[in-house]
Amino acid sequence: MSATKQLRKAARIILVGAPGVGKGTQTERLIKKFPQLSAVSSGDLLRENVRRGTPLGLKAEATMKAGSLVPDAMILQLIVSELSSQGWLSPSTTNVDALLASTFSFVNKPTAPSDDPLSSFILDGFPRNVNQASLLDRLVPINCVVNLVTPPSIILHRIANRWIHAPSGRVYNSDFNVPRVPGKDDITGEPLIKRDDDNVETFKARLKTFDETSRPLLEHYEKMGVLWKIEGNSSDEISPKLFQELEKRFG
Ligand code: ADP
Repeated sequence: MSATKQLRKAARIILVGAPGVGKGTQTERLIKKFPQLSAVSSGDLLRENVRRGTPLGLKAEATMKAGSLVPDAMILQLIVSELSSQGWLSPSTTNVDALLASTFSFVNKPTAPSDDPLSSFILDGFPRNVNQASLLDRLVPINCVVNLVTPPSIILHRIANRWIHAPSGRVYNSDFNVPRVPGKDDITGEPLIKRDDDNVETFKARLKTFDETSRPLLEHYEKMGVLWKIEGNSSDEISPKLFQELEKRFG
């Protein structure tokens, strides 16, 4: 990839996008392009706590196994302690209990977060709903929400043609990333399979759920004036637009 770029201001970013739109790919590319950025994933933080057997991990485990969302207070606690242990929040912003207990937003006015470009982050998997977003606003205001949009028909086509090599996680596509030998992994020669959730019917249902749940979240950020939309039919089409806009805003 081309040369890395510098941020001059702290970028606090959220990527919103349908399953299959390539948020993970964009996050990886952003971190390479802007080395001052770090990614914080709510799912990873939770899994880490489960693995270490922390009190929070023990509480969260059953909920996660059932595929439900853990309570907002729990996930907020986790995100805030991660951000503050990285030194990206001022200490006075980290009183989560007071925040959750307070009914009026003016009780907990956000103190200015660090503007050091090294305090830049991309949140992955959080916030998932408007309540989480409002709580976050009062602790550390997000200043860039990117809505990644690819037409559903294109995502569905991609999913239908996606094959994986399960042991390594290598991904192929019978349209644009074909294995050298049809149906076989390039490195090991082992057979490629479909992922369980890569069938079109399941995917349509996931897209619908995403549409319903993301709409209020996007409206929330639209009102705050930090929402921005990027359209593209592939990750390669989206990345340059994303890089350009971040440079314009924070470079
Ligand atoms: P997925 O993309 O499959 O949802 P994640 O790694 O983002 O995977 O999350 C794994 C699990 O962690 C979720 O199913 C949920 O139980 C919990 N979780 C992650 N983020 C949140 C959040 N923001 N709010 C509530 N629960 C969350």
